Amino acid sequence: MTTTKIASCLLCEASCGILVSDESGQISKVRGDSEDVMSRGFVCPKVIGMKDLYEDPDRLRKPLVRTSSGAFRETSYEEAERLAAEGLKRIRDEHGPNALAVYQGNPTAHNLGLLSLGQVVLRNLGTQNLYSASSADQVPQMLAAELMFGNPFLIPVPDLDRTNFLLVLGANPVVSNGSLMTAPDMKRRLLAIKERGGKVVVVDPRRSETAELASEHIFLRPASDPYLLLGLLHVLLIEQGLERPAEVWRGFEQLKELVRACSLARASEETGIPVETIRRLASEFNAAERAAAYGRVGMCHQRSGTLAAWLLTALNVVSGNLDREGGAMFTTPAVEVTKLAAILGLKGHGRFKSRVRGLAEVSGELPIATLADEIETAGEGQVRALLTVAGNPVLSAPNGPRLDRALATLDFMVCVDSYVNETTRHASVILPAVSPLERSHYDIAINAFAVRNVAKYVPAPIPSSGKQDWELLLRLGLGLRLPKQGAGGTVASWLYRLGSQLGPEGLLDVLLRLGPHGVRGRGLTLAELRKHPHGLDLGALEPRLPGILETKDKQAQLAPREFLREAYRVLAQRRAQPGDSLLLIGRRHLRSNNSWMHNSQALVKGPPRCTLLMHPTDASERGLLSGTVVEVRSRVGAVQVPLELSDEVMRGVVSLPHGFGHSRPGTRMKVAEAHAGVSLNDLTDDQELDELSGNAAFSGIPVSVTQFATVARPLGESAPAHA
Ligand code: SF4
Repeated sequence: MTTTKIASCLLCEASCGILVSDESGQISKVRGDSEDVMSRGFVCPKVIGMKDLYEDPDRLRKPLVRTSSGAFRETSYEEAERLAAEGLKRIRDEHGPNALAVYQGNPTAHNLGLLSLGQVVLRNLGTQNLYSASSADQVPQMLAAELMFGNPFLIPVPDLDRTNFLLVLGANPVVSNGSLMTAPDMKRRLLAIKERGGKVVVVDPRRSETAELASEHIFLRPASDPYLLLGLLHVLLIEQGLERPAEVWRGFEQLKELVRACSLARASEETGIPVETIRRLASEFNAAERAAAYGRVGMCHQRSGTLAAWLLTALNVVSGNLDREGGAMFTTPAVEVTKLAAILGLKGHGRFKSRVRGLAEVSGELPIATLADEIETAGEGQVRALLTVAGNPVLSAPNGPRLDRALATLDFMVCVDSYVNETTRHASVILPAVSPLERSHYDIAINAFAVRNVAKYVPAPIPSSGKQDWELLLRLGLGLRLPKQGAGGTVASWLYRLGSQLGPEGLLDVLLRLGPHGVRGRGLTLAELRKHPHGLDLGALEPRLPGILETKDKQAQLAPREFLREAYRVLAQRRAQPGDSLLLIGRRHLRSNNSWMHNSQALVKGPPRCTLLMHPTDASERGLLSGTVVEVRSRVGAVQVPLELSDEVMRGVVSLPHGFGHSRPGTRMKVAEAHAGVSLNDLTDDQELDELSGNAAFSGIPVSVTQFATVARPLGESAPAHA
């Protein structure tokens, strides 16, 4: 007998609605749900990963504990949970709370239990050593939102379906299906902009999949986005003399002074974009009836990522496109993440600094780029134990090999994870949770960045065969005698006790009732949401300023002092001449999702994807041939990888996909190991950070590329760095 259940794909931010068919206990089909309120039947090729994750024989079904011989042995949850709690508690009791660090990976964002109860547990551990994938991703946008609007989650989202001009910086939404711009079926939505007479312009060092279907693609030198934005603002504010925006904005004159200090010639020199192109782009953007500038990881992954995120929003403001239909708008999600952030202590920055490098926290977290420092450097507060949740920082953090070595020196490590991967192979205890199809779901975080206000709750489509992640964390918390007063303070402690009794669903119901569509709106509750299994449309984005501002004076800041100071410092420097170096950037493939979808045979098949892209002229100058193996060397390490020539990258730039490098010993992911590739983060540099937020500056790493082998050979081994 076949039964079909409504669910959501939890593999990326698009959160497409899916239908899961079960035939006598076997998943027979996963397909798009044509009635889903947001995705309307769209799914991408990755959707098969939901089935593959469930069926994967390498996925752990039982906990593992490290034996005295160094090998793992399977054990019961009871024993594993006890050992995990005892080990973490011992370290905390002997060395203080900061000796215990936490790292949360990207899948946390797609998990109701982890985002609700899980956060409450982790934020009550009392340690300042909280890390996550955010500091290798969107922290610059969070910091810009914090200083401009007073809350890190007030990040404007392009009103994609009503705009006439979309400017895309350092993002590839056709492949990501939106990121901080949740919108399934991105290709159709972008083409619709062109069909209604509008324009899509992509500015990127690589002619990406999005650039291919855009109206125009402009090459930009890696990590020079702030200069392009300063140039665009210079045209609008200085050359065209645009007027001060609405009264709600403070700092207009200071912003104007700053952009006056960056001439168009300077912007052109730094970006490699001709002055006339900058001038034309600014004029077209400003002339468009409705326009939105959108930037993502490529914009954040640079030394001035926060400046870029700030100036991008400033461009939307100055051109009159912020908070208006068809521009960049704020959502009205059913669960108010801004309020949740305040309760959990995520609002704020610079309240404490990292012990070794003195890097400031943002939203209660320290930069992942400094976790290795905190483990390796002796002294009070040294990190001696680590708890990871759905994360693989050995592959996703800058200078992964250094972190890999540091993890091997920890006294104790607990991983809530489904695989023995490059990170969890160091664990003392691995606690596996059920697969995504065995979880109920509501998108607490993703809905806050959707191009339309929607809400959808789905029960788990497949009966749970094990433990939920949040259950595992809750029991760890109990074993550690929580709640203590952590970074989130007493309200978080109260939430911990409440959540322990209610579970994620009960907590969700409370959050829905307290949200803008709850008792203050249409009376939305979880029971009401259950009546709409394909989701509930809560309407188009609407203007929300000034009501949502959380700054002290209830005004929006167009030129926060910290940003101005940093911008003038950056302007005082000149671009270093690259010499013979090439600048390395990452890329993402439609069938890949960071490091965690490479064990699906259906998704890795086809030609090898882990290749180094290089412009043919750069290759010819170095005597390099397509299909041969080259050695790519940076300050921190070297990898050998097949070379692929393409003019889709600009001259002087090479590109390697991220998330690969599955050749380290001791992992248990057979498919991934057979398609190991090399890790981009064996080359990226943990000393290269966004100055303001501490975000990893992955883009624009100087590398040399030389011939390694003229024929293909087994790949995946990293060579040590030059002495
Ligand atoms: S775009 Fe693909 S991976 Fe992302 S949610 Fe939709 S089906 Fe899943």
